[in-house]
Amino acid sequence: MDYDVVVIGGSFAGLSAAMQLARARRRVLVLDTDAPRNRYAATSHGFPGQDGRRPAEINATLRADLLAYPTVTFRTEAAVAAEGRDGEFRVSLAAGDEVAARRLVLAYGVRDTLPDLPGLAERWGVSVLHCPYCHGYELGQRPLGVLARSEAAFHQAMLLPDWGATTLLTQAAFTPTSDELRLLGLRGVTIETTPVTGLIGTSPNLEAVQLADGRTIPLAGLFVAPLTAPAGDLARQLGCRTKEGPTGPYVEVDAMQATTVAGVFAAGDLASPMPNATLASAAGVLAGGAAHRSLVFDAALAAA
Ligand SMILES: Cc1cc2nc3c(=O)[nH]c(=O)nc-3n(C[C@H](O)[C@H](O)[C@H](O)COP(=O)(O)OP(=O)(O)OC[C@H]3O[C@@H](n4cnc5c(N)ncnc54)[C@H](O)[C@@H]3O)c2cc1C
Repeated sequence: MDYDVVVIGGSFAGLSAAMQLARARRRVLVLDTDAPRNRYAATSHGFPGQDGRRPAEINATLRADLLAYPTVTFRTEAAVAAEGRDGEFRVSLAAGDEVAARRLVLAYGVRDTLPDLPGLAERWGVSVLHCPYCHGYELGQRPLGVLARSEAAFHQAMLLPDWGATTLLTQAAFTPTSDELRLLGLRGVTIETTPVTGLIGTSPNLEAVQLADGRTIPLAGLFVAPLTAPAGDLARQLGCRTKEGPTGPYVEVDAMQATTVAGVFAAGDLASPMPNATLASAAGVLAGGAAHRSLVFDAALAAA
């Protein structure tokens, strides 16, 4: 067997999982294609001890810490297929070779699909954002918008006034109930039902949104809920069950990050409806520890 554990995805979740295994002196391979979800943001916020640093710097620090352990191998390469069963997994790599492992940790994240609006994608992570806790503070209490895609816009619009005067742009995707309108009113949220047709300002910054009737609304930040899907097909290939979250499907795991397939663990955005770097890292710690414990107990029970 080549490795005790292959970790697929080497960002917050995967590096944290691998760290637990490395510290138990297990042979770990981390595969990563170097495209973490937050790569569009200039700075990352809220991750303990790393607030305000560039995402790539944080990732490099986490990776350097891990690579200090001699039983870790890191390959910048995609896993393209996975098969097998508990104790006997095989992972095919983009380069054409194959590796074998007793356990797998899936930590390859999710892919975002943004609303199809001219000028929106190029501002993603700077002035078009999904999470006020991550990037709302930096917008300096200037006017903000919520671009509705579904009912979820109500919750975003209720929270956002703590970061700036808020306009809810309903986009014919969400019609607040009378109760919701009352609550939005109590939070001082302005409702705009005329659709947004474009974004104005020197990209990636935002100065205003263009409405279909010719008006513009000055905004420094626009919050949207992207649709999400697993960034790859490996969990499905292995037979892992998924659940439906508010923005899309994610891999079902138990309290110790075990998927519904024995020997396969999953962590981070791929296996959670709550996208956040610290939570992804914490889930990785659980997954790495659980994978290690399963190796120990299986071997001990087999020998007993
Ligand atoms: C624009 C933006 C800004 C954000 N800002 C913040 C913030 O400030 N604070 C915060 O807490 N959260 C933030 N988030 C959320 C945060 O990015 C995620 O919660 C976090 O990155 C999840 O970590 P992860 O390890 O699960 O997945 P990711 O960080 O997405 O990492 C997955 C890794 O797997 C690799 N991979 C994918 N497929 C394969 C494959 N087949 N083989 C090998 N490797 C593969 C990818 O290249 C990637 O490196 C932000 C999100 C976005 C979209």
